[in-house]
Amino acid sequence: MPALDFEFIRGALHFPQLRLWLDAHERIGPDEAVFVSHAHSDHTGRHARVLFTSPTQKLMRARVSGDRREYVLEFGERRALADFDLHHQSGATITLWPAGHVFGSAMSLLEADGLSLLYTGDFKLRASRSAEVCQPCQADVLVMETTFGRPKYILPPTDQILTELIVFCRTTLAAGEVPVLLGYSLGKAQELLASLVDSGLPVMLHEQAAKLTRIYESFGVRFPSWRELNPAEVAGHVVIAPPGGSLSRLRAAHPPVRVAVVTGWALEPGARFRYRADAAFPLSDHADFPDLVAFVRRVNPRKVLTLHGFAEDFATHLRGLGIEAQALDPRPQLELGLSFELGRQRA
Ligand SMILES: [Zn+2]
Repeated sequence: MPALDFEFIRGALHFPQLRLWLDAHERIGPDEAVFVSHAHSDHTGRHARVLFTSPTQKLMRARVSGDRREYVLEFGERRALADFDLHHQSGATITLWPAGHVFGSAMSLLEADGLSLLYTGDFKLRASRSAEVCQPCQADVLVMETTFGRPKYILPPTDQILTELIVFCRTTLAAGEVPVLLGYSLGKAQELLASLVDSGLPVMLHEQAAKLTRIYESFGVRFPSWRELNPAEVAGHVVIAPPGGSLSRLRAAHPPVRVAVVTGWALEPGARFRYRADAAFPLSDHADFPDLVAFVRRVNPRKVLTLHGFAEDFATHLRGLGIEAQALDPRPQLELGLSFELGRQRA
């Protein structure tokens, strides 16, 4: 079996020859390693051996308990997988490239047997204020996320949305209310905080977001000054908090709050009602549809495999553009013999 042949099992890629998994959610046996693209909970698990960037190492330590062997890779550094005690002689290498999704998020380029495979994890092409710039690289096979894989998902210009968001905050404060911006505590919270730098608005961060923001700061990411959320002193501040339980506490607080949800899904009509918010702003840490297509063009692969979100729709769209593409089926044990399908014409 060639080294880059893989199976798609329970939502994760497994390379049996390499004893390597990509973004597995479940605990894997002690002899196999897991590449963790970033520290969001749907990409992590309690694994025995993990490969990741240094920021993801620190963020994952803050979020996932348990002991594990950790192997930290630098962006752009090509490493032999044999270096990681995986006990194989495949000659395969792994190189991490910034994904631009959250700070430290990485795509992995695997190379073996004259073939290359790029796995994106979550990514975004747009410039970020709190994450590295995404760096697509050429690969024979591209395995990519397609969260916004339908043509209708086109995000407005980021500056336009941020201007509207700051108006929302100022208007709310002027009315004697507290603006609460709802976004995930890893990634969205830091991007919102960084985006408020020129507004001069005082910010309080929910404790989960505060903990992770301190890790960003330990790596030299700069933010405007902020305080950890103190409900007794919240008046006059913009609050950044994750969706969920914290909101009911805040709603019960005095003065009253006005809530804005910040998510790419705000593109959907009626999003603010679904999130029970007063406003919804379409900012995302994922690539929108035009950027998914642009990304494929930059990687220029011979075959694209899609997963997450509208994977089937996006694969169909790519085939319409003359690009060989297939959605990864979530059925367990789907075997994908890449080297067989691609042949070795380029070797
Ligand atoms: Zn993510």
